[in-house]
Amino acid sequence: MKKSIDDLAVFGGGPLLEKPLPVGQMNMPSWEGFRERMQGILDRRYYTNHGVLAQEFEERLCGILKVRNAVTITNATIGISLAALAMGMKGKVIVPAFTSAATAQALEWIGLEPAFCDVNPFTHAVSVETVEAALERHPDATGVLGVHLWGNACDTEGLGELAKRRGLSVFYDAAHAFGCTHGGRSVGTFGDCEIFSFHATKVLNSCEGGCVATNDDDLAERIRNLRSSYGRRRDVEVPVNANGRFSEFQAAFGLLSLDDFEANCARNTETLERYRNGLGEVPGLRMILPDAGERHNCQYAVFEVDADRFGIDRDHLADILGQENILARKCFTPGLHRCVPFSRVPQPDMPVTDDLCRKVIQLPSGSMVGPRETDSVIGLVRFIHENAQAIGRKA
Ligand SMILES: *Cc1c(COP(=O)(O)O)cnc(C)c1O
Repeated sequence: MKKSIDDLAVFGGGPLLEKPLPVGQMNMPSWEGFRERMQGILDRRYYTNHGVLAQEFEERLCGILKVRNAVTITNATIGISLAALAMGMKGKVIVPAFTSAATAQALEWIGLEPAFCDVNPFTHAVSVETVEAALERHPDATGVLGVHLWGNACDTEGLGELAKRRGLSVFYDAAHAFGCTHGGRSVGTFGDCEIFSFHATKVLNSCEGGCVATNDDDLAERIRNLRSSYGRRRDVEVPVNANGRFSEFQAAFGLLSLDDFEANCARNTETLERYRNGLGEVPGLRMILPDAGERHNCQYAVFEVDADRFGIDRDHLADILGQENILARKCFTPGLHRCVPFSRVPQPDMPVTDDLCRKVIQLPSGSMVGPRETDSVIGLVRFIHENAQAIGRKA
């Protein structure tokens, strides 16, 4: 650990960690399990087109998500596009400005117009109020795509009620929320459908991949038909043909990741608890906690940095951590309303999003982060806070 600020890597000291520690790391399966699954694929000489492993994976996903259909897709971005196409969405769709670029880009690709709304400053998610404010600007919007940011579900009751009242479709980007519940009910069962991602930084990994979960069998069938002719159950009319196939290699990896899912969540829970004990009381830091009383994957260690009270701002903190090989992530800068292509037309002010884009930082968690690594990060962040004035003078 650092004794004086001269030991910080930004001032020429050696980095705290030998190797870079990213914010989320792929949960690696055992080599034996991997080899066995791969051998099966080679023996069957069948590596895509909705094979036995993709079918097994979908079945297990349905069980965990407690949903009738979990349609596996190449990745979640394509999943959002195919879901919106299958829902027959048209024109403007309300989406939060504070989310991954993929959320809105997936709509843009299929000719929909993302109409941005701001988010709640406490939860970081869309709320009935922020969606209603966007609807005042866009009374012709036809739907809402909510995002369950950091694994905490949106106000699905309020949004469902609003959608019904205004005749809107509502669906959710659940990329962060695999294995989470809301009011005890599984995420994956809300809205018309919900889209999960199995990308490397997510809690469940399939070497790229995702799924659309829905209890609407007709919607699921349209998505299956859009995905490709393989794996559809009935032939139904779709506006265009696509390829969103999920390969047997992806399914093999996904199945192995499912085997470890409970253990990974347990480790994450411990990591977050450690962060909370170590950093929860540091002035100027606010941790975004998993919703109390819910099942949660605890994949995201997210904090807001109040520069005045913490002593230095988020960007400076991220820079110092980065030089120590702690690759903290500045989440979502800038807001989507300020990103190309959306910034090419005038966009309304999004004060909460802009504020969060300056403040939010994600610290490492995941399979490479045990108690020792967590304590290193905690110790360093506390050291930076305690020496913030001196660091500011020297920088
Ligand atoms: C990761 C992510 C996506 C995109 O998922 P891919 O599987 O990488 O396409 C979409 N939305 C959110 C909120 C994400 O975090």
